Amino acid sequence: MRKAERYRHFTDYFTTHFPEPETELSFANPYELLVAVVLSAQCTDKRVNLVTPALLAQFPTPAHLAAATPDDIFPFIRSISYPNNKAKHLAGLGRMLAQEFEGEVPATIEELQRLPGVGRKTANVIVSVVYNQPAMAVDTHVFRVSHRLGLVPKTATTPLAVEKELVRHIPESLIPKAHHWLILHGRYVCVARQPKCAQCPLTGWCKYYDEVVSKQEVVPIKSVLKSPKSNIE
Ligand code: SF4
Repeated sequence: MRKAERYRHFTDYFTTHFPEPETELSFANPYELLVAVVLSAQCTDKRVNLVTPALLAQFPTPAHLAAATPDDIFPFIRSISYPNNKAKHLAGLGRMLAQEFEGEVPATIEELQRLPGVGRKTANVIVSVVYNQPAMAVDTHVFRVSHRLGLVPKTATTPLAVEKELVRHIPESLIPKAHHWLILHGRYVCVARQPKCAQCPLTGWCKYYDEVVSKQEVVPIKSVLKSPKSNIE
C-alpha cells in the first residue's frame, strides 16, 4: 500500500469517528496546561489530574510559582514520577515566566524550550493545544502507533524524525488533531505490549497487523498440528 493511501485511511477514519479529540489533561488556561504537561513526563495524565487541583490552588499564577522554592512545591507533587526534578523545574519555570515573559506562556517553540523542564515535545503540545499551530508532539504513543500503522518509515528512529515525517504528510489543519488521535489510539487500543488488534478498526490497512500480527495468528495452529504432543493426535 502506498504511503499516501495509508495517510488517507488514517485521516478519513479519525475525522469521521473522532472529529474533535481533546487532551485528557485538565486545565483552565495556558499556564495550567504548561504545568500539567511538564508534570506528565513519564507519568499518566490520570495521575497528573489528581495532583494539579491542589497544586494550582496553591500556585494559581506564574508569580505564585516564582515565589516558591522546590521544597514548597514538592509536597503537592510527591505522588508523581520524578517529583524532585519536577519541583525544581516548576520553580524555575515560574521565575522565568514572571521575569522574562510578563507572566504569559510564550507562543513559539523556541521560547518555550528555554523554560526549565520544557523540551521539544512539551513545547509542541503547548503551541498545538493552546495556539492551534500545526505542531506534532511525539511521545511514546505517537512514536509507536505511527510506526505500527506504517505512517513513518523504519528509518525514522528518533522522535524528531517521526515528527518531521508526520508533519510532511498530514494536512496542516489536521495536525493538532492527529496528535491526539495517535495518543488516544495508543493509550486505549494499540497499547505497547499487546495491541488490541481484535478490537481495532484499522486492521485492514495497518502495516504491523499485516506483517506481524496476522502471521502470528497462523503460527500456533501450524505448530499444534506438527507437535507430537498435540491434543489433536
Ligand atoms: S491493528 Fe493492531 S497493531 Fe495495528 S493499529 Fe490496530 S491495534 Fe495497533
